[in-house]
This record gives sequence, structure tokens and C-alpha cells, in this order.
Amino acid sequence: MSAKLIKGTVIREEILAELRAETEELKQKYGRVPGLVTILVGENPASVSYVTLKIKTAKRLGYNEIQDSQSPDITEDALLRLIEKYNHDDDINGILVQLPLPDHIDEKKVLNKIDPDKDVDGFHPVNVGRLMIGGDEVKFPPCTPAAIQEMIVRAGVETKGAEVVVVGRSNIVGKPIANMMMQKGEGANATVTVVHTGTKNLAEHCLRADILIVAAGVPGLVKPEWIKKGACVIDVGVNRVGEKISEKTGKKIAVLSGDVDFEPACERAGFITPVPGGVGPMTITMLMKNTMKSFKYSLGLL
Ligand code: NAD
Repeated sequence: MSAKLIKGTVIREEILAELRAETEELKQKYGRVPGLVTILVGENPASVSYVTLKIKTAKRLGYNEIQDSQSPDITEDALLRLIEKYNHDDDINGILVQLPLPDHIDEKKVLNKIDPDKDVDGFHPVNVGRLMIGGDEVKFPPCTPAAIQEMIVRAGVETKGAEVVVVGRSNIVGKPIANMMMQKGEGANATVTVVHTGTKNLAEHCLRADILIVAAGVPGLVKPEWIKKGACVIDVGVNRVGEKISEKTGKKIAVLSGDVDFEPACERAGFITPVPGGVGPMTITMLMKNTMKSFKYSLGLL
């Protein structure tokens, strides 16, 4: 193996340490800490475990974290009123509604109700627009794309003038990361190509990439021969490809794999993110970073 691993687990700890120190400093100075509310409707096990992880991380940082669990029978109106309440709560800087929502609730209506200045997930159309404009307009970059960019920068990979190829055009990963990488500024200023299910000659495009970002959700889609020698490969894919017994707990756990054929890809890439342990652990970290940013806006520091 020759590629350098970009480990999300390591970068996560660096960023969390920075945020913890910043929280302490601001608490001393202003007597307040960042506030984040997570609204969970029902008890979908995947949502519960994701929300639990968010709460644990927020608490580690010293944030004020509220978990607001609601019955799966809550009406759409009641949920909208709840969001409105948090929109006006000065102690809350970030509002997160855990998806998916039950069928009787219109997800779009709910997400659009969140005050864009508290939308730390960055999915509100106002924040999507701000991201598109770029520069100082950007308040909350969406968490997974922000994680990708942060990992590229912290690995010391040059982005200015680089050929970036993004595989996938979803609203949560492909489109926003493509947009971010083409903006002027640090960690960007690249020439970006987006490829997707309608693309001819996928391999040909990938082979041109100095930085290849793959978010397709197809295990092993990217073959080693599609990777330019020395390229930086960011594998966003998280695919369940089997089950195994955990050595730690003795319980059944999922075997995860990325969208890149990892072992042989390491022989060609210069840098690569592993799955698991790559982009995955970074997403909640970037949520915490956005919450800190929102808190600083509220203090007039940004
Ligand atoms: P999505 O299904 O919404 O989008 C996938 C995109 O890939 C589509 O735009 C599609 O056109 C493209 N695609 C699919 N198959 C293709 C093929 N054969 N050739 C070319 N393009 C193809 O998925 P998403 O939400 O963007 O997520 C993608 C992957 O990233 C998933 O595995 C998901 O689990 C993972 N993910 C991880 C994180 C994280 O680690 N924090 C966050 C979000 C998504």
C-alpha cells in the first residue's frame, strides 16, 4: 500500500479539541455556550443511534444540547409550531430535525420552517443559495461536503487549479461539494466535473481527476484503473455489504464498504480515505462546527 490514509477519526479529534477550547473561552468571556436542539419524531432505530451520537458529541464539547423527542403521531402543525418556538429561543443556535419523518408530515415544509440562521445542517433553500453565491455569503456549508473539503485541506492537498471529479449529484453530497470546490478561495478554486448515472465514459472522466470525490452508494464502483497515479481519493460511500460479530461486544454488526475498490486503489492513489473511519466520523464534527459558527454570529463575533 502506498497511498497516505486521510483518517476522519484523527481529524475529528483535532477539530473537536479546537471547538472544546473555543467553547470554554467564549463561556469565560460571555457566560454562554452554543445551544443545539435535535428534534426526533418517533423511534426509528437508525435515527435514535444517530441522534444519540450527536448528543454525546455536543456534550463532550460543553454545548447546551436538547433532545426533543416527539411521538410519531405529532401533527404537522404541532411540529411546525415547535420549530417556530426554537426559532425564537435565544439560547438555541442550531435546530436539527432528524429525518426521515412519518409519512403524514411534509418533510420539505418542516425543513423550510427552520430559521435559515439556525439551519446548521445547511439544507434550507436560503443556505443552498448562499452556498451557490459563495464567499462571505456562506453561513452553514452542509456537513458532509464541509467534511470532505476540510479533509482535503488538512491533508495538504493542493486544490487550486486541480481537476476535481465528483461522482454523484445528490443534493446532500454531490451538488454542494462540486459547488464548493469551484468557488474562489482556500481549499477550492478547482476545475470541477460532475459525473452521474447519465454520464458516458465514467472511467475516462475519473482518470483525469487530481481529486476524485465519490458519492454514489455503489460498493466498489470505482476501479483502481480509473484512478490517476498519485490522485487524492475521497470515498464518501457507506454501503452495508454483510454482517460480522464484533470482537469488542460479541454482537452482530454491519460490514461496511465504500464506493471505491479500496485495497488495489491504495496502490495508485496518493491519498485515500478509508471506509469506515474516513468521511463518516467527520459529518457530526462539522455539524458542531456550524453550531459554533451560529453561536458566534449570535454574539456578533462574525
Ligand atoms: P444518492 O443516492 O442520493 O445519490 C447518488 C448519486 O450517485 C446519484 O446522483 C447518482 O446519479 C450517482 N450514481 C449512482 N450510481 C451511479 C453509477 N453507477 N454511475 C454513476 N453515477 C452513479 O446518495 P447520497 O445521499 O449522495 O449518498 C451517496 C453515498 O454516500 C451513500 O453510500 C451514502 O451512504 C454515503 N453518505 C455518507 C455520508 C457520511 O459518511 N457522512 C453522508 C452522506 C452520504
